[in-house]
Amino acid sequence: MFVQPCNAFSENTVLLPDGEGGVVVFDPGFSSAQEWNALDTLLADHGLQPSAVLLTHAHLDHVMGCHGMFERYGLRPRVHALDRPTYDMAPRAAELYGVSLDPLPELQEQGFEDGEALHFGTVELTVRHTPGHAPGHVVFIDDRNACVIGGDVLFQGSIGRTDLPGGDAGQLAHSIESVLYALPDHYKVVPGHGPATAIGVERAGNPFVNGAGTGMLQRQG
Ligand SMILES: [Zn+2]
Ligand SMILES: [Zn+2]
Repeated sequence: MFVQPCNAFSENTVLLPDGEGGVVVFDPGFSSAQEWNALDTLLADHGLQPSAVLLTHAHLDHVMGCHGMFERYGLRPRVHALDRPTYDMAPRAAELYGVSLDPLPELQEQGFEDGEALHFGTVELTVRHTPGHAPGHVVFIDDRNACVIGGDVLFQGSIGRTDLPGGDAGQLAHSIESVLYALPDHYKVVPGHGPATAIGVERAGNPFVNGAGTGMLQRQG
């Protein structure tokens, strides 16, 4: 797995090789020639070809490379149906933040179902719906590698913000408790921003949502 921080928001674009020469690209945030060049180098070095674009959710910082992924590879992004409105709002968000966003390609018709199994080459992923930061937020669980591609739900020592449209603090706490903290301690979380962490570390010490139920977000509810 490769993680490439991208764009003005330091969004983690995640690349997961499928073991058969393909690579699944999660939340493509590529926004400059430099970032596209870094992708090209990585693909060339490892002999990989992008095979799918999956979105944990459709906030601006996670979709900035969708135009290029379609132009270069003909790949349309796949997102949970409840985040289609978020995707449609991205150009407006770009205006508000004063960043440029190339026209977004149409989404794949197919969304994600909670609990759905995805197969790419030798990779198997389980999709879980984890709303709270965005209505259609999902995480992708890779049991074989004990890893979660987690988007903006749970960060090292922090959690996703809930003040954006469709955000809900109670839902976010519930998503973290019922989906992420149900995983074994050693599972690694690769979040949408910042360094990776482990389920056990956050369950024990995350100040916002922890396993004891004493986090700041949990006490509010
Ligand atoms: Zn987000
Ligand atoms: Zn983000």
